[in-house]
Amino acid sequence: MKARYIGIIFVAAVMVPSVLLSVLSIRSAGREEAYIEKQLTTTLLAEVTHAASLVSSGVSGIAAELHASAPSASGQSYEAALLAWKRRNPLVGVPYLLSAGNRILWPPAESSSGEDERMFLQLNSDFLSGKAATPVFANIAVVHKEQVLAEARRLDESLRRQETTADVKSVPTEKTIVQELARPEAGAGAQSEAAAPTRSQAAAPAESQEPSAPEGSPALEPPSTPGTPSSLGAPAAPRAPSAGGTPSSPEESATRDASSVPESLESQRAIDTFEQNPAVQARVYKKAQAQGEQLNARVAQPTSKAFREAPAAASESQYITTSRLMSQIASQGEYGIIPRFIGEKLTFLFWSRQGDGRIIGCQIASAAFRLRIAGILPSTYSPVRILTVLDESGTPLATPPGAAPRDWRRPFVSQEIGESLPRWEAASYLTDPGSISAQARSASAVIWILVLILFVSVAGGGTMVLTSLYGEMRLAQKKASFVAGVSHELKTPLTSISLFIDLLRRSRRTDPRKRDRYLALMAAETERLGRLINNVLDFSSLEKGRKRYSKRRVDLARIASEVVEGQRVRLEGLGFTVLCEAAERVFVDADPEAMKQVLINLVSNGEKYSPEQKEIQVVVVREEAVVAAHVRDRGIGVAESDRERIFLEFVRVDDSLSARVPGTGLGLTIARRIARDHGGNLTCAGRDGGGSDFVLELPAASGDLEEQE
Ligand code: ADP
Repeated sequence: MKARYIGIIFVAAVMVPSVLLSVLSIRSAGREEAYIEKQLTTTLLAEVTHAASLVSSGVSGIAAELHASAPSASGQSYEAALLAWKRRNPLVGVPYLLSAGNRILWPPAESSSGEDERMFLQLNSDFLSGKAATPVFANIAVVHKEQVLAEARRLDESLRRQETTADVKSVPTEKTIVQELARPEAGAGAQSEAAAPTRSQAAAPAESQEPSAPEGSPALEPPSTPGTPSSLGAPAAPRAPSAGGTPSSPEESATRDASSVPESLESQRAIDTFEQNPAVQARVYKKAQAQGEQLNARVAQPTSKAFREAPAAASESQYITTSRLMSQIASQGEYGIIPRFIGEKLTFLFWSRQGDGRIIGCQIASAAFRLRIAGILPSTYSPVRILTVLDESGTPLATPPGAAPRDWRRPFVSQEIGESLPRWEAASYLTDPGSISAQARSASAVIWILVLILFVSVAGGGTMVLTSLYGEMRLAQKKASFVAGVSHELKTPLTSISLFIDLLRRSRRTDPRKRDRYLALMAAETERLGRLINNVLDFSSLEKGRKRYSKRRVDLARIASEVVEGQRVRLEGLGFTVLCEAAERVFVDADPEAMKQVLINLVSNGEKYSPEQKEIQVVVVREEAVVAAHVRDRGIGVAESDRERIFLEFVRVDDSLSARVPGTGLGLTIARRIARDHGGNLTCAGRDGGGSDFVLELPAASGDLEEQE
């Protein structure tokens, strides 16, 4: 019963938790691939975001450089200055000069000009002279910032509702960000702490230090030129909608004044909110489409799971196309770069307003421009990924030497660079696309192995603990029955002895024959008591290893016949036929008292377990180097399966007779121990015709052997 409880406790406290843990681990092993992909996406996205921001700043740098190197082309002597500028600066492709009234002063329309100049005029003269508008790109989040921010407010509201007041403090709301950043000393640090890490963050320092940062400024101004007169100056913020000469809306331009700080920050906030919320993206795209705005498709189709789960962001460009006239663009800054699509090809027009109202500029040389941008990128190749920039046609600007050909339009993650480089994207590709699943496989293999080890140790350890527990319990049970057996064995002879003493006392003139019989019975009972006490004492000294033998050469045949003769009268009195066969003198090196004890125990068992056919036979023989003493009876016998077990301490065969006969289960244990301590053994065999045959085997004394030979 108790054992069952232990089993239940073991299952409930050890097995069930281990199984649950294992199931959890195996389930997490199944999710390993998704987890690794998510980790990689996060890391690589942060990197392409940084790369996009570097490229965007690079474009600002190019604009600043061109602005600084642009010659002053006043009066009529501009031709030489422009041509010298072209020679000096490899970024200058075709220089041009507009009058204050937007008339093209250079290149001349005459046929004398070169092929490049003619082409330039053909493609750009309408736009430069103000007769035609050009499509410019604007961040959809800025164009629709009211809607985006309304969504943001809604999100904030629900956040505020969910969280405690203390928690809300740590979550930057739109208002707190604006307040933080409006503080003059609140630099980039404030913003980068307050807002989520998006690409816009990289450019935050420039933006937050430039109070007039307008959304719609067409100019590009590097953050490193604080002293330039271009106060209209667009911040170099790569994500700021000002980049690339793309005013987002006339209203915004019109309202640009002292209040433009929060305006700009609002735009930033709108961009961040838009980027972080696929639900907001879907709604804004839908609204833009409904209003007939021209949405653009992205050049790259990122394949990582995060993008697959937000299909709108993965396929739609974040930049929509609007139209602007040259004069509109030029009125909003001091200089800038206008990206222009000529068919499918992107060209870049640099412009810079001069003191006299003229505009000097150039078409940027494409090859030099691309080289500069490619040079800005951090190391293209790492063992994990390939990082590059895709142009408007999906062609990588730089690829690692020897990179395997692949579909460059399908990166793992990518990020649009911004208005300054419409349709261009910073993109990252996995060097080995199979690495995610390989990593996941090895991670789950480790988990499986750990689970297996856990199981084997829990099951193995548990089984060992249970086995030893059961063993202890069985021993405790046996000891309890031993104590009961000993008490019973002590009580029975004591009761008979006191009964005979009583009888002798009461009738003084008892028949002498009767008196002798009483005394003989009392002697037998005393002997039984002595035997029991001997066994118990011997057992404890054997247990403690303190039993000492005084070994000498003894004749086992003689010891056997002494034991039999000592018991004969009593046994025959009980109806036993007693036989002792010990023809030869057989010598062994043994403690005679210990040998006697073994034989008395065996004879006594023969007596106890022979209820009907009462016959005891002691035969001592010598077989080669072994002396064997057999103690046989015709009693109940020992079943074959019990013939080893009965030698274990406290073990008693559980049958009806053994249960009736008092015993301790120690006699045979002690007898075998003594036999083994003498280099021999004690075993039990069956007998034809019923009964048992206990065989005590001992090595014959060596001297005796020689004598024989
Ligand atoms: P005890 O006799 O005190 O129970 P033992 O160690 O002497 O302890 O014997 C162990 C068990 O072996 C006995 O309980 C009995 O069931 C069985 N046994 C021993 N001797 C005999 C025998 N001669 N015949 C049948 N069974 C025996």
